[in-house]
Amino acid sequence: MSTETHCSRTKCKSEFSLLNRKHHCRLCGKAFCNPCSDNWLDNKHLKTSKFYNVNDMIYSKSRVCKSCYGTFLGTQIIIYGLIASFILYIIKRII
Ligand SMILES: [Zn+2]
Ligand SMILES: [Zn+2]
Repeated sequence: MSTETHCSRTKCKSEFSLLNRKHHCRLCGKAFCNPCSDNWLDNKHLKTSKFYNVNDMIYSKSRVCKSCYGTFLGTQIIIYGLIASFILYIIKRII
């Protein structure tokens, strides 16, 4: 897991160095530079991820990459959208 020398983000590909530190996304497990993985998810969303690290439990949030964060937000929006339309459906039935 330490063979990555460059950021996994296609648009970035910056080389890791002492100044450009490598970080692993807790959802996809790939290595990213800091700006590409500067998104944080509450650990409760990451318990099922195989990249979830027990050491993360000392923090309440874990680092994820931009694309995983986008996917996560998209899923949340879909879930809330479904809940909202279901509630509307119930309300219409009652009225
Ligand atoms: Zn990721
Ligand atoms: Zn990057």
